[in-house]
Amino acid sequence: MPPRKIVLRFPPQVVDKPLIYHLVKDYELMVNVLKANVNPYKEGFMVMELVGEPDKYEQGLNFLKEQGIRIDYLSEDIVRNIDRCTHCGACTSICPSGALYVSRPSMEVIFEDEKCVVCGVCLKTCPVKAIEVNFNGKQ
Ligand code: SF4
Ligand code: SF4
Repeated sequence: MPPRKIVLRFPPQVVDKPLIYHLVKDYELMVNVLKANVNPYKEGFMVMELVGEPDKYEQGLNFLKEQGIRIDYLSEDIVRNIDRCTHCGACTSICPSGALYVSRPSMEVIFEDEKCVVCGVCLKTCPVKAIEVNFNGKQ
């Protein structure tokens, strides 16, 4: 199976569990963590590529779901519609990775997609829906 990018969203009670260890050891999956933000006692997320035999792959994902982890499949990253963006700055205060920030002195809102960890928080915050994401190739 080719590498598949997935986004894992962790509830606070599982952030300290050795989930990657189990994916590798119990399900023989190859894990390539691309981005992560995991802190004790807080919700966390991780973007990773996961490769393995189809049966083991599904079993590994089921294991994660049983731990309460939400899984989204990622084929595209976050995109900002620059024509729609009003540079209001609302997204910059909630972006955990610094991918969205205000450039001074122009006060223009900049989006650096290489810093984006695809947490999705900005999607709900933008008042004009200038930020979009493709999951499984569909918006
Ligand atoms: S999805 Fe939005 S809020 Fe989350 S890291 Fe990317 S730009 Fe920032
Ligand atoms: S919240 Fe939306 S409109 Fe405001 S700066 Fe961010 S992307 Fe632009």
